[in-house]
Amino acid sequence: MFTRCLKYLRQFIITRRVSNKEIGNPSSNNLFDNKSYIKFTRLKALRMNDNIRGVPGNKFSRNYKLAREVSEAQTNSTKVAGSSSIDNNNNHHNTSLSHEEKSPYAKFRGSKALYVTDFASLAWCEMQQHYALMVGGKKETKAMKAGSKIHNELELQVHDIITIPTKTKEDLWGIKLYNVIVGLESLDFNHKTRELPIFGFVSDLFVFGIIDQVGMKKREGEWTISDTKTRVRPSLPDQKKILPSVKYQLMLYKKLFDTLIQGAIDDEIIYQRLCLNPDLEFSSELANIIKRFRNFDNGEEKGFQPNLRNLMKIVVNNFGKFRKSSNTLEVNYKYQKDGSDIGSLYFEYDENQITNYLTKSAKYWKGDRTPDGVPIEEAWKCQICEFADDCEWRLNKIKELSQTKRALAEITNAGRK
Ligand code: SF4
Repeated sequence: MFTRCLKYLRQFIITRRVSNKEIGNPSSNNLFDNKSYIKFTRLKALRMNDNIRGVPGNKFSRNYKLAREVSEAQTNSTKVAGSSSIDNNNNHHNTSLSHEEKSPYAKFRGSKALYVTDFASLAWCEMQQHYALMVGGKKETKAMKAGSKIHNELELQVHDIITIPTKTKEDLWGIKLYNVIVGLESLDFNHKTRELPIFGFVSDLFVFGIIDQVGMKKREGEWTISDTKTRVRPSLPDQKKILPSVKYQLMLYKKLFDTLIQGAIDDEIIYQRLCLNPDLEFSSELANIIKRFRNFDNGEEKGFQPNLRNLMKIVVNNFGKFRKSSNTLEVNYKYQKDGSDIGSLYFEYDENQITNYLTKSAKYWKGDRTPDGVPIEEAWKCQICEFADDCEWRLNKIKELSQTKRALAEITNAGRK
């Protein structure tokens, strides 16, 4: 017991930063799977302003911002009389975080769209996710940059991409819906699509995500949802090492995909939630592209009004042509250095597991509970956490373990007397 305490105490205290190895340029030759695809053209928004995700600042400003936020929250918390940092189950909670006025959904996402990763990343460490939201995002590592580059290369296998200017938020969501239609067409023709936008509701919260890949495996004859991960080593990890966050991410994709296939989506609530006017015509650039590429004005859909309401009808209709996805979910691994394929691991969808996880996560987002740090058995995560120096959860654990260590020493000494 004494040794175990020391081990965990050490893990919480050490804040070693792991530096990523230098990453080489991905060679596109390694990324292609030697099949020829009919290429569909996806749109990419040239944003009016980048309001979807915060842009992380440098280390100094991040630390400063975090310190300021924590200090403001602490000031607020002292105004609450009789507040306690220990709940009925004797669990310590971060007092400064438990008295925020707004829910994380309202504060960090403006009560609009959450992302699939907003749910999935809570599985690594809720406190870390919370701190990342407070400072405007996680630091982009070399590994993340290399991963994005490989994802882009893979997407260009099946899609061309053109960037167009946007003027309204309806344009931005119009592009997303247009890309859903294009993605489903690619799935229909090529039996494969990448970067497929997906959306739906989790406990009344609107969720949006992009599935890395949906493809048909000939032997199974089912649509398999897949996520691509990059690895520093060119070998598959152990099956047990598929991270819970990756599993939840894929299970949520499947849940949203299958719900759209069943047509069980209320688009009016989406427009209300996102404050969108579904009947507003898209700006001329987007409207012209939609008409030209979709040939709406020449064929049976003459007089087609390019707006969200009409695009949504096509989306729902096109999803209805597909069957539910496979219960087997795929994690495909690429070698970070050159993008070559390492292979895939598979696991089974578990409806109870994902439902329970989403219910618990939604409570955090709605502000019904405070975020938890890692359990003591996972204290090793603190060693590679950029927020370790400021993390109150970790500091509280160190304090608790030091007290336990002192108490054990006292008991041992008393026994010797
Ligand atoms: S230091 Fe540990 S508990 Fe705190 S945010 Fe990081 S990983 Fe989570």
